[in-house]
Amino acid sequence: MTRPKILVIKGDGIGPEVIGASLQVLEELGFDAEWIFREAGYEYYVRTGKPYQDDLLDVAAEVDAIYKGPIETPKAGGYKSVTVTLRRELDLYANIRPFKSYPRVALNPNVDIVIVRENTEGLYIQAEVMLGKGQAVALRLATRKAAERIARKAFELALELGKKKVTLVHKANILKVTDGIYLEEFYKVAQMYKGVIEADDVIVDAAGYYLVRNPSRFQVIVTANLYGDILSDVAAGVAGTMGLFGSANVGDEKAMFEPVHGTAQDIAGKGIANPTAALSAAIMMLRWLSARGYGRKLARMADVLEKAIYDVIREGKVLTPDLGGNAKTIEFAEHVAKKALEYMGD
Ligand code: ATP
Repeated sequence: MTRPKILVIKGDGIGPEVIGASLQVLEELGFDAEWIFREAGYEYYVRTGKPYQDDLLDVAAEVDAIYKGPIETPKAGGYKSVTVTLRRELDLYANIRPFKSYPRVALNPNVDIVIVRENTEGLYIQAEVMLGKGQAVALRLATRKAAERIARKAFELALELGKKKVTLVHKANILKVTDGIYLEEFYKVAQMYKGVIEADDVIVDAAGYYLVRNPSRFQVIVTANLYGDILSDVAAGVAGTMGLFGSANVGDEKAMFEPVHGTAQDIAGKGIANPTAALSAAIMMLRWLSARGYGRKLARMADVLEKAIYDVIREGKVLTPDLGGNAKTIEFAEHVAKKALEYMGD
């Protein structure tokens, strides 16, 4: 069987620590891939004056998958987000983020949702201008094409995962035109799944409230770019900590896998970041590659890795500081790998 070709971008802040630890775990489990390493991000920009290596987008277009750490985008300056560029260039239109409550750290034990976030438009087109006199405006793009395909992706995913309901989150009571498009396309797609998957919609502020107070109200959430970005962090905070959740940026053919969290500059370089989010992203990548003909063994690897992580956290003997322990990134990763290897043998 041919090996998958995977582009790795370790990123900024804790990126190299968590991606490095995760790659070590994958190697110990015997995952065989052709890894291609490239640099991108703010640290690379400071060193070279460029946001990413010249051939990055060409390599990204040619590999089977991309595995990347968080990349810092400074709040000021003419520097465009590398992550947003990759999502747009490769048309990775769906950002799929599963959140399931973890033992010990979840504020609510009942979170079991997938957030499907539109990834290519909305306010993330970065079209902002100063109008002068202390006024600025940001343009938000909403297209029927993007609204339709993200809704379709959410329903397909619901079927695949055995979920019974898809909820559109929006603010169409205020943004009647842009969110109006999302609402209309959502219910058109929902018609095709009538009788199989329930469809409803919730205003974004209420969705934030339900996520905290009554998360089992949701199974699959589909939403526009900014709402999805914000609600993901809320979901992470309710289901566990920022260090725990991975995501997949998926197009029709290509996919990029990354932790949900950012660069965590407050703990970068200390060797204490939790590698679980990076590992969770790797688990999603293994399943995605397996479904694309790279072997059932990869799906099995994903399953044992997922079980090993849950069990290590439940047992609570080796935990990183964000989970209340004092283990280093590498100690935690090694413990997970050891357990996963035991399960592989079973
Ligand atoms: P960015 O600007 O890159 O989004 P940020 O610091 O605003 O970065 P995060 O990086 O997501 O946002 O961090 C939010 C909080 O969660 C920080 O206190 C950070 O230390 C913590 N955190 C994030 N990821 C991890 C991780 N993998 N392990 C432990 N703590 C983490």
